[in-house]
Amino acid sequence: MSNHAGSYMLNDLLSKMVEFGYFKDMNEVENKKFLTMINKLIFYNDCNLGEVFDEKLAKVFNICRYCSKYRLDINDEGYCKECA
Ligand SMILES: [Zn+2]
Repeated sequence: MSNHAGSYMLNDLLSKMVEFGYFKDMNEVENKKFLTMINKLIFYNDCNLGEVFDEKLAKVFNICRYCSKYRLDINDEGYCKECA
């Protein structure tokens, strides 16, 4: 069982924050720190990575929706080259 409602809530929140431009000046170090924090939230709240990071958010944050690694080769479906 995974926390789908929590996953979609996080997805909604992050999508709105992206829309409002909250992350537009985020550098690579900040991006990685943010991902570490959000990955802990996802793990401890039994959320689903692929539901939190849809194909759009995966590209914004450079995170693979499958392996959760920071990658610069995220494709249009939100997966890194290895996982695609
Ligand atoms: Zn991957």
